[in-house]
Amino acid sequence: MLARGTKGSVLVDRCQICGSPDLMEIISLGHIPQVNVMQPIGSRLQEETIFPAELLKCNQCSLVQIGHIVDPELVFPPTYSYVSRTTKILRENFAELADEVIPMLNLTSNDLVADIGSNDGTLLSNFKNKCQVLGVEPTNAAKYANENGIPTIQQFFNVNTVKEYILPRKASVITAANVFAHIEDVHSIVDAIKLALDTNGVFISENHYLVGLLKTVQYDTIYHEHLRYLSLTSLKYLFDMHDMEIFHAKYIPTHGGSIRVYAALKGTREIMPSVAAILEEEKAALTNEAFAKFKAHVVASKTALYHNGQEWGWRSGAHKIGAIGAPSRAATLVSYIGLNEDLLEFVLEAPGSQKIGHYMPGTKIPILEETPELLSSMDVLLLLSWHIADELMPKIRAKGFKGKFITPLPYPRKLDG
Ligand SMILES: [Zn+2]
Repeated sequence: MLARGTKGSVLVDRCQICGSPDLMEIISLGHIPQVNVMQPIGSRLQEETIFPAELLKCNQCSLVQIGHIVDPELVFPPTYSYVSRTTKILRENFAELADEVIPMLNLTSNDLVADIGSNDGTLLSNFKNKCQVLGVEPTNAAKYANENGIPTIQQFFNVNTVKEYILPRKASVITAANVFAHIEDVHSIVDAIKLALDTNGVFISENHYLVGLLKTVQYDTIYHEHLRYLSLTSLKYLFDMHDMEIFHAKYIPTHGGSIRVYAALKGTREIMPSVAAILEEEKAALTNEAFAKFKAHVVASKTALYHNGQEWGWRSGAHKIGAIGAPSRAATLVSYIGLNEDLLEFVLEAPGSQKIGHYMPGTKIPILEETPELLSSMDVLLLLSWHIADELMPKIRAKGFKGKFITPLPYPRKLDG
């Protein structure tokens, strides 16, 4: 990887998977702030670093990727405010994963299942009583997992960690949910996986899915924590480079549309029809025309939201308009649409969120705790966690909100919910 400039980011001029310089721009969202760096309410705003958010496509291996890789110390500062509030859809997905994998691979109590970026151990808890489990997690979530009976190594997952803490044991299954898009050197992760995996072992990754991103106009998932936007086609290219092959893949509903991919050493597993079927679908879904259409949809969605907001008068008009939920992706949407404290009264977060008491990145929109009083005073709430709207709306209603919901994507919609 290139040396980082003084400004804290590396310009991506070679594909992150295949190294080709043949990169095509799909869309630029302008400069966006770091989505998890937030300043306290009441403070005078300090300077913030913003970075270009360009989406590029490699014409060699078809990987879609961010155009600037920001220094991880800037992206994940000590004050990093992400809290893993596991949603119902995520919990259900991990339970379904175990139900699928244990019989498919005939796992028994002798088999080791290791999870990369295991967080608080939610995924592994579904395997715990049937197999041996081991988490690898660099953050303090590892402590919580250990306290709750999920053995977890508090380290980054890499070749050294595998040598020091896992070998000579070998894993029958290694899982990685939403890890592949975040780590700078993807090849070193695959090397470490191969080292830890039994010869007949299986690597299962779950990633936010590029085709779904395009179809449902999820430009809000473009920010600097996400270095790569994966398809089966680009993953196949990656695994090919490492003598591995994908033998099964399926769509799953997490994060607004994801894909679960099963890979193993070449020649060790029978390849299921799902692989060819999805690769074929991607040929039609990931054309240059489709990328151009995506860009047009993003622009149309942005202007529609702005115009609908004009109609309702934004904050200054007859209606009281706020927003609900401040996930990382909300910062991209707020920045790209150009929302600020003159348009939105506040963003509400559930009690316990570490984001409460801060401003949305790049603005002075305050993030406040959702209370029945605040909720019942609002006419319109913009659902920034629109991808879990079905789960969220009944909860907000139950807490006293009587107005209209707006989901901003794919296109702005007013819902009674
Ligand atoms: Zn490439």
